[in-house]
Amino acid sequence: MEDAEMLLLLSAVSTTYGADSWTAKFIGSGCFEVSSVKKLIIEATCVIPEASYEWCNWVPRKVGIVAWRAFLDRLLTADALSRRNIYVETPYCRICDTNMESVDHLFTGCPVSMEVWQVVFAWCRVPNLFAFHVRDLLNYYKTAITNVQAKKAFYGVVLTAFWGLWKARNDLIHNEKAVVVRNVFEEIKIMS
Ligand SMILES: [Zn+2]
Repeated sequence: MEDAEMLLLLSAVSTTYGADSWTAKFIGSGCFEVSSVKKLIIEATCVIPEASYEWCNWVPRKVGIVAWRAFLDRLLTADALSRRNIYVETPYCRICDTNMESVDHLFTGCPVSMEVWQVVFAWCRVPNLFAFHVRDLLNYYKTAITNVQAKKAFYGVVLTAFWGLWKARNDLIHNEKAVVVRNVFEEIKIMS
């Protein structure tokens, strides 16, 4: 009886003499591609993912990583550490000492970073931007400038400003080095 059942099941299986290989069942080409899987998920869930982080090959990797982590809210700010139940000396921003230190505060709401952005935007000859979120700053290059090359250069400067602000914040916390707008801007200029 069991033999008959097994033979029945095997009758639906076709075999070939070639070497075994993996095939992605739901992808037309049979080759696994992240883009195809992403498309399948979007079709199945009808949810379009949020815009992804844009890398810029004109800036060093270590510079781009700071903005990337800010974009993902993965920088170890005071609020991020508290969320992970890690002790922090103070939940407040060490630069202004008036607001909770979050990624959005540090890069958009902190008076010192607002001043830095103002100087950076003036240097790049684009209108000042009152950003509320990190993503506002990271998307600004799309509308601030029309020329493709200049757009990329400006985006590189924005990423460098993220790096400069984060470095200034770390220098203050770990080396007690005061955050001075002019100095932060000079560092951004040199790195840019
Ligand atoms: Zn602050």
